[in-house]
Amino acid sequence: MSIQNNYNNIKNQLPSNVELVAVSKTHPVSAIQEVYDLGQKVFGENKVQELVEKHPLLPKDIQWHLIGHLQTNKVKYIAEFIDTIQSVDSEKLLNEINKEAGKHSRKIKVLLQVKIAEEDTKFGLEMNDAENLFQKFVDGEFLNVEITGLMGMSTFTEDKNQVKKEFEKLNVLFNNLNTIRPLQTLSMGMSDDFPIAIECGANSVRVGSAIFGRRDYSI
Ligand SMILES: *Cc1c(COP(=O)(O)O)cnc(C)c1O
Repeated sequence: MSIQNNYNNIKNQLPSNVELVAVSKTHPVSAIQEVYDLGQKVFGENKVQELVEKHPLLPKDIQWHLIGHLQTNKVKYIAEFIDTIQSVDSEKLLNEINKEAGKHSRKIKVLLQVKIAEEDTKFGLEMNDAENLFQKFVDGEFLNVEITGLMGMSTFTEDKNQVKKEFEKLNVLFNNLNTIRPLQTLSMGMSDDFPIAIECGANSVRVGSAIFGRRDYSI
């Protein structure tokens, strides 16, 4: 299958209200340009170094999302141009993003990454910590960020019920926070599980290999 076929195939499976983040990590600039030329504007990368190298070589109207763990000392390299940071997993990181966004007189959109997987994952906020952080934001801290939603990754398993249970959990939190202050984005689902994620309320999916093909190394 060509990238074009893959892309059209994924787009055809997405309801019109669901945003597609094309995850281009490890893939060359030429492949990203190809997908851009098909009309895609939102791309996701998981490493600052790789993003910083690719960004100047590609069209300026691409909306870049950082989807991987972000170290506080690297925020400064992306603060000027990043559209959304989906992987905010600590208050320290949120503070740093707020500070760096301020230096560029801009507001950076962020998603709180919540730990929903049963497996022992390294990154992500506990449910109640995400709630507390969101409340601080609503109370007026972090004036240079906009928390626009939540992001979650399910357990890597064949067990669809397990995956569904985890996505549903995040959907409940999303709906709760949404009553405090309206949120736009519930980012759940990747190549293997995005249909389940959409069933469970996701309105943004992060799809990599189903568009670009397999990566040479897994991340
Ligand atoms: C790599 C990655 C994806 C995309 O994974 P695929 O299985 O290739 O679709 C989505 N989200 C995050 C956080 C990732 O690191």
